Formats: sequence, structure tokens, C-alpha cells
Amino acid sequence: MRCKTKLTGTVIHPYDLEYWQARKNWNPFTNAFPLVFVFAQQNEDVANAVKWARENGVPIRMRSGRHALAKDFSQTNGGIVIDTSQMTMVVLDKQLGIATVQAGIRVGVLVRMLAQEGILAPFGDSSTVGIGGISTGGGITAIQRTVGVISDNILAATMVDANGNILNVSENENPDLFWAIRGGGGGNFGIITSYTFRVRPAPPGVGIFQIIWPWEQLDEVIDTWQRWAPSVDERLGTILEAFSRRNGLLRSQGIFLGPKAELEDLIAPLLEAGTPSTVLVDEVTLLEAIDFWAPNEPLFDDQNTTWSSAWAERLLPEKGIKAIHSFLERATGSESNFFFLNSGGAMNRVPPEDTAFFWRNTKYYLEWDASWRGTAQTLKNIILVEQTRKQLQPYITGSYVNVPDLNIKNYGQEYYGRNFARLRKVKAQYDPENVFNFVQSIPPAPECDQHHNNWQV
Ligand SMILES: Cc1cc2nc3c(=O)[nH]c(=O)nc-3n(C[C@H](O)[C@H](O)[C@H](O)COP(=O)(O)OP(=O)(O)OC[C@H]3O[C@@H](n4cnc5c(N)ncnc54)[C@H](O)[C@@H]3O)c2cc1C
Repeated sequence: MRCKTKLTGTVIHPYDLEYWQARKNWNPFTNAFPLVFVFAQQNEDVANAVKWARENGVPIRMRSGRHALAKDFSQTNGGIVIDTSQMTMVVLDKQLGIATVQAGIRVGVLVRMLAQEGILAPFGDSSTVGIGGISTGGGITAIQRTVGVISDNILAATMVDANGNILNVSENENPDLFWAIRGGGGGNFGIITSYTFRVRPAPPGVGIFQIIWPWEQLDEVIDTWQRWAPSVDERLGTILEAFSRRNGLLRSQGIFLGPKAELEDLIAPLLEAGTPSTVLVDEVTLLEAIDFWAPNEPLFDDQNTTWSSAWAERLLPEKGIKAIHSFLERATGSESNFFFLNSGGAMNRVPPEDTAFFWRNTKYYLEWDASWRGTAQTLKNIILVEQTRKQLQPYITGSYVNVPDLNIKNYGQEYYGRNFARLRKVKAQYDPENVFNFVQSIPPAPECDQHHNNWQV
């Protein structure tokens, strides 16, 4: 092997004791046996790793929070994993309302740190998800109806490209890439080492609610929630979580950027569904709301999980709700569940082609997953998730790239809608040799397509 570049940063090989820890992803189903891990401390470590991989013909995967939900996204057998998780610096400029954040920080650490400074930034339902992956895939959150998805708040980024060059990415520098990294999905264009986000002052108080119903009231609760949540006051972000019958939990939660008294009125229509066993409504500080929504949790799950996701542009009919009911009856893993999050508001006001994040006309997002232990149940669960997608297909649209499904064959259209053609052109511009190539990556546009500027297909 003749190579010029040396790996820098913390380098871990299979013969190192740390290798087994380095291999661990949140979803053990996605773990692989890479050739080497590089934990970068600075941009140059990332650049060296890209150059080294190309000189040696080693496949590249990039990683930050290890929460990839499908195989081959952030680890591959025999590849190099370029991991930014040791790059966690945050610089906040309160005056300008911007925070520059290295890609390795986790969502929970970041938003709690900012909340302590009186600053609001979007957060999802998991503290341990990495900013590196969630932000470039879109980033759906309970406050998206007020501030847009996380990628709508990206003002700039630093990225190491397929040649190992360190690029500034913004409206003024590499603007096509700036368009693409706001929703184009992790792993496709280069390793993002930092993001600059727009942030906002924290509200004085945050309304929160939780309602729990007997599991048997599932169908009525789903129907009531879906008729209510998409059009409720846009300061209210709400989820509905229905776990497997074996687990028995059926609950809705919400975060309201406003006072408790108003929230109590807003949730009245939802309380008309069934006979709730628990109703909690409160007004808390932003920090407490973060603890409620995204409590501290272990970095890794001990169950295998397989997922699918979609968007609802119209309400599910009875047949669709029956398919959900049947999935939850048949999914034997206690953590298997259906999850719904309302869209609308600021998220839907951005035109679909303005950034790579396409799905802007939706009423809500839905995802479902089946979990299991060991290997005997693997195929059964993959088939169950896939069958459910087929049953729901007449009523759903697209899918969310951050919650990928390897069974989706036309994934470009499903993840990116009409933006897929332009994403392929940007890919051809920045990674023409398809160095950043994985199971559902964006392929470069063929040469003959690269010079047309009409992004509609
Ligand atoms: C428990 C749990 C809760 C979740 N909750 C939410 C939620 O509330 N909202 C939501 O939108 N999503 C949520 N997700 C999905 C999450 O957004 C994706 O799994 C995301 O890709 C994870 O990013 P990561 O950096 O943690 O993962 P990684 O495994 O490190 O990477 C995931 C993907 O991003 C790429 N990537 C990682 N770092 C970089 C980088 N620095 N530059 C370029 N590409 C990179 C990887 O190559 C890979 O394709 C959740 C996932 C889990 C497991």
C-alpha cells in the first residue's frame, strides 16, 4: 500500500480494545465491522481521513451521534468510519441570535446548554441523537410549527468534501451545496463538521400536556388526534404514541409555546376521545420542558429495531387505522410502536423547492417500528413493517430520510420528492465520482442531465 496521507485524530483498529465500544450504534441491528474508526478532533483529521480512504480505496462512512436507524448508513464492513463525536464546541452569539455548533454534539446537551442561556433551539424526542445527522436530514421536532424543521434554521456549515477540501457553505459560498444540506440527508455530500444555526429567545413559560388512554381505545384516539392536531394553534406541537398491545401504552403529549390556561382550552377536543386514565397539563420552564420531552437516556438501545416512515397529506380512513391496529397487535416486541407528530405552521410555509427538505404540504408525520432481541425474530419483524407500509400505501406520501426504510426501492422520490433531480445534480457537482456512496445514497446525475437548470421533473 503506497499512500501519502496519514490518519490523524484518535484512530481505532479491530485489534484495539476500544474497537468493540466504537462499533456500538444506538440500534445494534446497524452495527458492522469497519476496518478503522477515526474520531476527529479537528477539520484536518476529517480531511486526512477522506484523503487516506481515497488513496487506499476504502469505503467511507461518516458518523456523529450513532443514531442511524438502518444498516450501512453510518458503518460498513471493511470501511473507515469518520466520526465527529469528539467535536462538540458551541459558540453562542446572543446579540446576533446565532449559535455555531460542532457536529459531534448531541441534541440534549446542546439544547439544555442553550436553554440555560435563555435560548430556544429545536429538539426532538431523544436527547442522544447527534446534531451531525439529524440536522442535515431535516430534523422534525415539537416546535417545528413555530420555527420550522431544524434544517430551516441552518445559516451556514463547514464541510469536508470528497477531495478532503474544507468548504464554507452558506447562501454566499457554495450555495447549491447550502440548498442540498438542508434536508438532503446525512452521508451524501461530505462530512459536516459544524453548523451555524439561527436561535431565538426562550419563551417565559412552556405549556406541556400528557394524556394516557386504555390501549383498547386506540382506533378512536388515532382518529380524534388526526382530525385535531394538524389544525390546532401552531404554537402547539403534539405527538401520539401507540405501543404494541403487549406494552399497552397509548398516549399523546404536547409542547405549547404559550400559557397553561390557553393550552387547556386547546386540548379540549382531544379529551373528548375515549376515557383518558391520566391527564396532565402544566406550565414549566424551557429546561423542564426539554426534560419532559427528551429525558436523559442511555446512549444505546439493547434491542434491534427496524423502521418505516411516511407523511400524511390527508386523513387516514378507517381501513388505514385498522392496519395500524393490526400492526400493534402482531408486533411482539414491547417497544414496537406507531408514532405521529403534527406538521403545519412555519414548517409548511417554506416552499418545497426552497431547500432540499421537500415534504411541506403534510398534516402530520408517522413512523412505525418493530423491535426484537436476538436473531430468530429478525425476518418476521422486517416483513411486518413492510406489510404495514403496503397496507398504508394508498393513504400515505413519501418517507423521511432520517427514518429510512431499506425496503423502499424508489427511495429518491420517497425521501426527496421533486427535489431528487436537483440533489443528483448537486451530487454530480461536489462528488462526481460517488465517493460518498452507501445503500440509499444520492447518485450523481448522469453527465447529460447535469447542465439543465430546470429542477422540475
Ligand atoms: C431514539 C431516536 C429518536 C429520534 N428522534 C428523532 C426526532 O425527534 N426527530 C428527528 O428528526 N429524528 C429523530 N431520530 C432520527 C435521527 O434524526 C436520525 O437517526 C439521524 O440520522 C441521527 O443522526 P446521528 O448523528 O445521531 O446518527 P449517525 O448514526 O452518526 O448518522 C446518521 C446518518 O447521518 C450521517 N451523518 C452523521 N454525521 C454526519 C456529519 N457530520 N456530516 C454528514 N453526515 C453525517 C451518517 O452518515 C448517517 O447517514 C431519532 C432517532 C432515534 C434512534
